[in-house]
Formats: sequence, structure tokens, C-alpha cells
Amino acid sequence: MVTFLAGGTGTPKLLDGVDAAFDPAAVTVVANTGDDVELGGHLVCPDLDTVLFQGGGVLDRETWWGIDGDTTATHDELGRLASAVDLEAGPRYLPPERQTEGRRLARWRRFSAVAEFMEIGDRDRAVHLTRTSLLDEGDTLTEVTRLLADAFDLDSTLLPMSDDPVATIVHTEAGAMHFQEYWVARRAAPTVVDVKFRGAETAEPTPEVLDALSDPVVIGPSNPVTSVGPIRALPGVDEALDATPVVAVSPFVEDEVFSGPAAELMRGVGRDPSTAGVAAAYPFVDAFVLDADDGTDLARPVVHTDTRIDDTDDARRVVSAVADALAEAP
Ligand code: GDP
Repeated sequence: MVTFLAGGTGTPKLLDGVDAAFDPAAVTVVANTGDDVELGGHLVCPDLDTVLFQGGGVLDRETWWGIDGDTTATHDELGRLASAVDLEAGPRYLPPERQTEGRRLARWRRFSAVAEFMEIGDRDRAVHLTRTSLLDEGDTLTEVTRLLADAFDLDSTLLPMSDDPVATIVHTEAGAMHFQEYWVARRAAPTVVDVKFRGAETAEPTPEVLDALSDPVVIGPSNPVTSVGPIRALPGVDEALDATPVVAVSPFVEDEVFSGPAAELMRGVGRDPSTAGVAAAYPFVDAFVLDADDGTDLARPVVHTDTRIDDTDDARRVVSAVADALAEAP
């Protein structure tokens, strides 16, 4: 058994090659939910969804979010998802106590869909509608994610980091804003001064997540601040990582990122935006996978390979390096 911690780009890329060293059925993926938003009443979970679409073979691999070739067939897709997991057709009433109750899980990240600031495809939206409706019917995010994973025929187990609300708030010189405002609406333009995970102190990692963290853990090349940070902010997670073998793939080549705002965010939280900064932020990591061109000197075992992932062969090469690094982890 092995557990991957995932954000929405670097780790899903790596998961494309998971079968190079691991049985996909023995793999658990724990996804960040700090990026989630409620948009027009629908709960959107970008990192869970990228892994769902990646595992289901439908991911738009240009953007690394959304469904490839998405269309306007929202209604048909809602029916398809429900029937894929034998959910009875409606009308489906929410339990009486839920009729007037707000969604606790959507705290601190509710947005109107008027002039919708995030692009949501129609089939993509069917996932959000199904997820939100099952939550309203009383399921947990973990239970809903299991149903969606079945609907997309995932080989591996996919878990949200928590069934409780955690919202990633980026504090900038232009004020505090949700991560999606910072990244999607403002394109990472405001200077970051801090990042906080609202709700993390009282949120719990699920028992399924704590169980998965007792297996060896792979931290894919995800953003250490806003993808891995919310998972680590949950009580008990760092302790669990301390107690199990952990390998991390650097999302940097020395001080160069492959994509996204990892450097700006690392700087904002006072970390060096580099592989050295990632290693300093991850004291519990037992061995690293670094790019062949990354000469960073770390006092921990390192396996070098070309860590750029453009296709499945690349992903398999990096996964093989991960397995080699795990073998070196004490
Ligand atoms: P987000 O949720 O979209 O921010 O995605 P992640 O946190 O999962 O991934 C973002 C990180 O992945 C960035 O820091 C990138 O530098 C890194 N990344 C993207 N593509 C690659 C790649 O091909 N190889 C490696 N090693 N890292 C990558």
C-alpha cells in the first residue's frame, strides 16, 4: 500500500505513471480541499476533480482541470452519473432538517455564479451538482467522493483530506482573498504576505486519511504551500508523516518552477522558493526525487531523474525514481 498527497497539477501528472512501480488498486490518493469553493450553490473541489478526471481518463491535459472536449450536455450527464452508481431517479427530497440548513462544508468560500469567475464545463458541472446534492442528502464528502470515483472507474482510492471545511486564504498587499480569487481572478498578481488555512484548527483528517498515512507516503511535485499546506495544517498529519517513510518529488529544478504560483507563495510564507526551500519545509521527508539538472545538496538521500512530466513515459520514469527513493528511505 502507498499513499500520494495531491494538489491539482504536479501529482496528477505523476499518477499517470503509477503502474510503473505500484499496483493502482493498492494506491490511495489524498487530495487537498483547501482550494474548494461553493459557486452558485455547487461545491467545486478542483484537486479532487483533477484526480477523478485523470483516473477516469477524461482530463483536459492542456489545462490540467476540467473534462477534455466538454460540451453543453449538462442534463444528460447528471443522469449518466447517477445511473452509473445506481442512484434512483428523482424527485429526491433532501431530509427535512436539511431543507433549511446551510452547508457547513462550504463555509468561508461561497461565491455567486453571476458572471461566474471560474470556467466550469457542462459535464464538469454535473459532477458538482451530484456532489452537492449527495452532501445535501446527508453523505459526507468522503462518501460522495467514493461514489464519484466509482462513476469514473478509478483504479485507486481517492480521499478528500477532511470532511470538514478548510479554506485557503491568501493574504496579499491588496488584502486577504480566497485562493481562487488570488489565482483564477487575479492571476497571482498581488504580492503574497501570508497564507492561512481557515478552519484547519478545528477540522479533522478523516479516519480513512489517518489510516492511509500509516502507509509509505509520496508527496508528488505539488505546491508545498497551497496544495500540501492545507493537508499538513490538519491536526495529527505532520505527526503521521513523521512516523512513516515519506518521499517527495520537488516541484522545482533548483529555483525554477515548472508552472503555477509556487515560487510567489513560498516567498510569501518566508520560504526560499527552491528545492532547498521545499526540503526545509518538509523535515519529515526521508528521501527526495530531484531533477537531473538539480544540484541542490540535501542532507537526505536523493534520486535524480528528468522530472519534467509531459506524457505517460515521463510519469513512469519519475514513479520508478520514487520507488527507488522509497527503498532508500529509512
Ligand atoms: P495546483 O493545485 O494546480 O497548484 O497543482 P499542484 O500543487 O499539484 O502542482 C503545482 C506544482 O507542480 C508547481 O509547483 C509546478 O512547479 C509543479 N509541476 C508542474 N508540472 C511539473 C512537472 O512536469 N514536473 C515536476 N517535477 N513538477 C511539476
